[in-house]
Amino acid sequence: MRFLSELAPRRRWPLVAMAVLLVLLAVSSAAAAVRPAPTSADPFLAAQAAALLPAHSGDLERAGEWDRYTIVASLSPAALAVRGTLSVTLTNRSAVTYERLYFRLYPNHPDYGGRLDVSAARVAGRPVASGTEHGDTLLWLALPWPLPPGGTTQAELSFTARTPRNASAQSFGAFNDEAGLWSLAGFYPVLARQFADTGWDRRPIESRGDFAVTNVGLYDVSIDLPASWTLVSTGTRLENVPGRGGMRRERLVSGPQREFYLGVVRGLEQASSVVDGTRIISHYQPANAAAGRRALRVAEQALRAFNARYGPYPLAELELVQGALTRFLGMEYPGVVLIERRLYAENDRVLETTVAHEIAHQWWYSLVGNDAQGEPWIDEGLASYAQVLYYEALGDPRRAGEELDYFRRLYGQLREAGRDVPLATPPGELRGIYVQVAYAKAALFFQALRGQIGDAAFERFLQGFLAAGKYRETAGPDLLRAAETACSCELDRLYAEWVLSAAPVPIP
Ligand SMILES: [Zn+2]
Repeated sequence: MRFLSELAPRRRWPLVAMAVLLVLLAVSSAAAAVRPAPTSADPFLAAQAAALLPAHSGDLERAGEWDRYTIVASLSPAALAVRGTLSVTLTNRSAVTYERLYFRLYPNHPDYGGRLDVSAARVAGRPVASGTEHGDTLLWLALPWPLPPGGTTQAELSFTARTPRNASAQSFGAFNDEAGLWSLAGFYPVLARQFADTGWDRRPIESRGDFAVTNVGLYDVSIDLPASWTLVSTGTRLENVPGRGGMRRERLVSGPQREFYLGVVRGLEQASSVVDGTRIISHYQPANAAAGRRALRVAEQALRAFNARYGPYPLAELELVQGALTRFLGMEYPGVVLIERRLYAENDRVLETTVAHEIAHQWWYSLVGNDAQGEPWIDEGLASYAQVLYYEALGDPRRAGEELDYFRRLYGQLREAGRDVPLATPPGELRGIYVQVAYAKAALFFQALRGQIGDAAFERFLQGFLAAGKYRETAGPDLLRAAETACSCELDRLYAEWVLSAAPVPIP
């Protein structure tokens, strides 16, 4: 995610970005050509290969680590509603026996301004008791019998999600219908994260920063929608079948992803290209066509740069969408990046850095997970530092330096205000200083790390952290370990000064 700095005065490019992860889109008419032949052994898994580049289809050998979601839903334009059923096959991946299953109902958080209601639920084919916690944002289903560690079961839920319209000035712009984008982030019940030691993550949802904290899953999603609408989504389209009454059905598969983004665009134009095998699609307002094509070029450059710097993006598609976010600049979803519409009209530089930032979240958030509601500095720091790496890759050290200067300015203001805190501060305690800490100070931590271990070891760190954390959840100590492995050196002091305390470190 990228958004406005809360403490800093408004400047030429005043917004700090929240990065949005890319969701794979299913626009390609060529999708049918890569559709794999389902195997009789595991047709669900065989279908997933279409979402991945051929060189990465072997990633599905880890499918036993991921839960499986099947969603069948219909979009109702008049009601601004999505009605559907969700079937999820899940495994207890913790050390404790479960009496209940827990699902996040993100749209019931007040920031969303909408609703997600579950009307029926069954577990292992039986109707079960249910209830909610934290203002209807956490749903529990009673298991008909305890689920031991390693045990697997299946849950089926019927749900209806409703978004507001033209509400981006008041509520979360990614769950809203406005300016040609009906954005449905979090439209379905998603399993709460599981911790290996303690089981379900049942914390209340923190408003500040990114909402979703989920484990990787595989999604097979069928959507009925008016024939004239264009879907934007995580994953790749497998089927596009005409239906009755001017409707059609699209079927999409995600590959391993932390959530499934869905949106509808109406009246937007698109341009596309291919980088390293991944198809990139940019959706934009006709009035902003030049900026929409420029966003595509920036995305091409960012994908190429980060593929080389971090390791390859494994997915077949990546989409950028111009939308009305209003209160923030950009938002990442797996395979989909939403960019605030004003950036297409006003400010080339912020459009460029925001697209780069949100695309970097495809690695840092989407491939490599971390607790965005507890340690946002990890993915936001890496995505912010990616703005520096992006300009380095373009051979533009002056602009790379200007990105660093921006972070130095924000962090300097924080220090002058006497409000410096450890990077490892939960977002709920960062009122008014979230951007200065989770973005600016965190980006400077990576600059300090690079200065201490050198360019070659820093590159090994980035690639090693990706390799170790891909499709997993990471925490600060994992990052420290990856850095120490890369440099074959001790970094405890650097980590303690920046992450665990607010020592008066030299600003790098
Ligand atoms: Zn971000």
